Amino acid sequence: MVNVKKNPYEIDETVYKRFKQKDNMLFRRLWDKTLPTYNQMIDTNIENHIASKKDGYSRIDFALVAAGWTVYERFPYAFTWERKNLIDIGYGVNWMKSKYEIKNSKSFTKIIKKAAKFYGASLVGIADVNEKWIYKTGFKRPDETSEAEAKQEVREGKIADSIYNQPIDLPNGINKVIVMAIEMDEDAISTAPAQPAAAASAIIYSRMAFTISCLGEFIRNLGYRAIQCGNDTALSIPLAIDAGLGALGRNGLLLTPELGPRVRICKVFTDIPLDSDEPNEKFIRKVNHYCKNCLKCAEACETDAISKVKNHTFVPSTISNNPGVKKYYVDVEKCFEFWVENSSDCGNCIASCPFSRIRKNLTPDEFWSKI
Ligand code: SF4
Ligand code: SF4
Repeated sequence: MVNVKKNPYEIDETVYKRFKQKDNMLFRRLWDKTLPTYNQMIDTNIENHIASKKDGYSRIDFALVAAGWTVYERFPYAFTWERKNLIDIGYGVNWMKSKYEIKNSKSFTKIIKKAAKFYGASLVGIADVNEKWIYKTGFKRPDETSEAEAKQEVREGKIADSIYNQPIDLPNGINKVIVMAIEMDEDAISTAPAQPAAAASAIIYSRMAFTISCLGEFIRNLGYRAIQCGNDTALSIPLAIDAGLGALGRNGLLLTPELGPRVRICKVFTDIPLDSDEPNEKFIRKVNHYCKNCLKCAEACETDAISKVKNHTFVPSTISNNPGVKKYYVDVEKCFEFWVENSSDCGNCIASCPFSRIRKNLTPDEFWSKI
């Protein structure tokens, strides 16, 4: 692992520890019986919402959200760490076996960034791998199993819950990470917390699966290794900050200069020679200054999950926050309570952020009417 010399964050090294993914709320609800949301899934209130006939909560809206996840859930190969079988899809395979000679890492980095954008990334940056951000333990998909299927099997007692508590160690030589942000639909996000906003998020998870799997295969076709990841394996936000994509906002999300928090992040770890980007220090300073007084996300949050304190702090809100970094902590337990009530993720803290550059807020009805 390469140590990143320049840290755009204040870290208390005596406290900071690599994160255990089982403490993420989407896994914690499976095992933490102290939570009011223990064993509650997003679907808890869906039928009541549909019966309520509220704008943005119809069966059509929920169908749009659930279908948006299709590629993410039905194509677990997207999150593979290696290509186990070299299948000839009609282009032969022998030419893929040797390492492509990279004479100039600077110009080759441009090629990788072009490929990432060609496959669907809106923004792309490169960082050295900082071991701090790699999960200590986490969820590893069994072959051909989606995250949803694995969680269902845990709930049914068919597989052990140790599946989401496995040691995460990147193979030797994997020293770069290509971090990509993909834009979420402006109109759909503007309807938050109604279901079109959740659909905007769902479809980007599927696009992430598409983008990382194509980029990973591109790298392997050149004879190098690629570890394709969504939210798994490592904390995406600090990797994205290291890769120069943006800054951490009060809402606990990556804010990018181009699209604010209206993005989802995915990444590919690799050993292909690349030049790393630097953190965008000017933008980080701008966001730090702006978030002190803005508070729009905290005011838009229906469950008071976002801190309103003026300055960054080392004090976490729950065990799902990873302590040791000075920042605004989000009470993700409260956030997830609202997700369960809302029958989806929410998006208010994305739609309300001025950096998201949303030109006009639409009602769900207006979203569906705009072709
Ligand atoms: S997603 Fe919604 S509930 Fe969660 S922090 Fe953001 S605004 Fe609050
Ligand atoms: S809404 Fe305001 S306070 Fe919240 S993340 Fe965006 S800029 Fe920062």
